[in-house]
Amino acid sequence: MLVIGCIHGNEADGMAIVDRLESIEVPDGVELWLVPTINPDGTAADIRHNASGVDLNRNFPVNWAPLAEPGDWQYGGPSAASEPETAATVALGELVQPSLVLWFHQDLYRISPARGLSGQVRERYAELTGLPLIEVTGGTYTGTASQWSRTVTVDTGVGFTVELGPSLSEDEAERHALAVVTVASEFVAG
Ligand SMILES: [Zn+2]
Repeated sequence: MLVIGCIHGNEADGMAIVDRLESIEVPDGVELWLVPTINPDGTAADIRHNASGVDLNRNFPVNWAPLAEPGDWQYGGPSAASEPETAATVALGELVQPSLVLWFHQDLYRISPARGLSGQVRERYAELTGLPLIEVTGGTYTGTASQWSRTVTVDTGVGFTVELGPSLSEDEAERHALAVVTVASEFVAG
């Protein structure tokens, strides 16, 4: 299971969840691959984009299309996987070939529902964390990280976004870390 704490640098509370996962006990048959942030420049500057002004969550090489202009909140970059952060994440995904991928964002406080196995994992994660299952809307979703991540999973096709709220308490961070381990053991280890 691959867990990415942060991709939009100003939505960094998922890093506290990854931090907890670094020392959590993991059941037999589960391997956690943890990335605190794939956007270290954005995280350091507390901005959505990377240092080149690209929305990394529109830069991944699956269903990529030119989107917006530099300066726009959804600028997708000059080409698919043009950004070093994207290329490094793609290489990691291809190396790990995870069964399940989670991406933390803020602050819509929801998980988009889905059908099939992905829907079951989302539903379970939502139940464990108290997040509602509600569609994420309002953007143009070309070249997103979660779409790409489904293509490097082995068999499952499960990669999705967890939208945290505007802040994350210690209790919530703990609940999310336990939820990661629970869905990993229920849907991956078996
Ligand atoms: Zn985001």
